[in-house]
Amino acid sequence: MDKPKKLNIIGGGVAGLSAGIYARLNGFDTTIFESNPTAGGVCTSWNNEGYYVNGSIHWLVGSAPGIDFYDMWNDLGVINDNKFHYHTCLMECKNIDGVDVHFYLDSVKLKRHLLEISPLDAGLISEFIDGIRIMSKANLRMERAFELLHAWDWSKTFIGHFPEVEILGKFNQLSIREFAKKFKSEILRKAFESIWSPDMSMGFFLIHMGYAISGVTGYPLGGSGKFTASLVKRYIDLGGKFRFKQKVSKILITKNQAIGIQTEDGNKHHCDYVISACDGHTVLFKMLEGNYSDEITKNAYRYLKTYPSLYYFSAGVNRQFKTLNPAIIGLNLPLLNSLKVGDFEHKRVSFQIYNFDPTLSPTGKTLITAMLDTNYDFWKNLLATGFDKYNSEKNRINEELLQCLEMEFHGISELVEFSDSSTPITFEKWTGNHKGSYEGWLPTPQSTKSKISNHFKDLSNFYMSGHWVIPGGGLPSAAFSGREVIDLICMKEGQEFLP
Ligand SMILES: Cc1cc2nc3c(=O)[nH]c(=O)nc-3n(C[C@H](O)[C@H](O)[C@H](O)COP(=O)(O)OP(=O)(O)OC[C@H]3O[C@@H](n4cnc5c(N)ncnc54)[C@H](O)[C@@H]3O)c2cc1C
Repeated sequence: MDKPKKLNIIGGGVAGLSAGIYARLNGFDTTIFESNPTAGGVCTSWNNEGYYVNGSIHWLVGSAPGIDFYDMWNDLGVINDNKFHYHTCLMECKNIDGVDVHFYLDSVKLKRHLLEISPLDAGLISEFIDGIRIMSKANLRMERAFELLHAWDWSKTFIGHFPEVEILGKFNQLSIREFAKKFKSEILRKAFESIWSPDMSMGFFLIHMGYAISGVTGYPLGGSGKFTASLVKRYIDLGGKFRFKQKVSKILITKNQAIGIQTEDGNKHHCDYVISACDGHTVLFKMLEGNYSDEITKNAYRYLKTYPSLYYFSAGVNRQFKTLNPAIIGLNLPLLNSLKVGDFEHKRVSFQIYNFDPTLSPTGKTLITAMLDTNYDFWKNLLATGFDKYNSEKNRINEELLQCLEMEFHGISELVEFSDSSTPITFEKWTGNHKGSYEGWLPTPQSTKSKISNHFKDLSNFYMSGHWVIPGGGLPSAAFSGREVIDLICMKEGQEFLP
């Protein structure tokens, strides 16, 4: 390349950082424009009373060799810079009547355990375990951007993987809730419904159980902040540039071609290509003013469900949990009385108790977090009535969560050094994500069939990345979407994409 082509990237989350790194690896001149003073987006951590609160990662698909995502994380500098912890359980589900459900990440042990709880559900349990075993051989091939794959590449993907394709065809039609309903055992029904959001497709759940069981999903010690720092380091080492505290308001277009961006201060930054790596809604309906996107994409924004907005609880406690078996989702506990968080009513809560990551707390102490689904409008309306009411509602919820922990760990209330929470308003303010959604489109039976466009035929030199272009979201999708757009730009420039 004589004079490197200039790429302006909007957003320094995982997708923007991935696009930036792959762009540098392919010789482009890149600047990431980020509205915050730091990179990371939702994948971030913060300090509170000597604790380092992990704001995102519970697990990273592709942390170990065996699937293509591993090669991507290697390119991005994540593998060398992080140590990973591997859990033996997806979730530990406690019940008041004493029958606990352990979602072991060992298919033989898991099958035996579920059968012990409910022999009457033997058929359904076998179907579930067979599905996991088959999906543990799945690997999303990613040597090229999807749209650059030829018929032969697709057939290579399918040949030898018929069982996985068949399982996905069958289970993608079904939500976790619909699958859970089939259990005769109420204990198993409730346990399955407590895994993430019950509206997610069973196919998505089985793929992820498959990844977890095959040992390719670790938790990076140090959490989201440390993880993001390794991406930032890789980007800077490769010569990438940042412009922090630069909020982009507009994409500049001449004759149906993106020619740059405009920041809120009115400054214009010209370039050869624009890549968005931030909230899809803002990009399509504000920065592009509703023009250019195709019907498929517009329909996605009209009809697909997003991940529910999030209430994110954190607390620091002056004690250890030496005998507690940690799990990817954490310890799922019943609440004595149901807990209203906005318009959502919770009967159970999953707490992540970081006894496996001592770097997140002062010596001898432990960080605890919990994710609770809620709705954006409730918090928006509450805040409009004033900070006092907004804060007292947060205090009420945090108190109830601490009481729930007290029931399980007597005396813990006395040992709490801080408790705090982020609402959808916090997420919206920090990352700009639509209605505070934290992971884009929920992988429902409907959305997993949808392909959302990452560029439009009426607008050249503009590409979209981030968790809004791949239903299901998450770190692998965000990073892959950044890689994919650089592959497409390389093709347009007539140069070979170098991973
Ligand atoms: C509590 C929690 C737990 C999670 N757990 C996991 C997990 O275990 N595993 C997993 O894979 N994923 C997990 N995720 C999801 C994952 O973190 C996200 O899907 C991923 O980080 C999204 O990255 P992104 O770059 O697409 O978007 P974002 O992180 O939203 O990044 C967008 C960036 O753009 C910036 N921006 C926005 N608007 C503008 C503008 N106008 N101008 C300039 N900059 C702008 C934002 O500040 C932000 O930095 C979790 C998320 C949360 C919140």
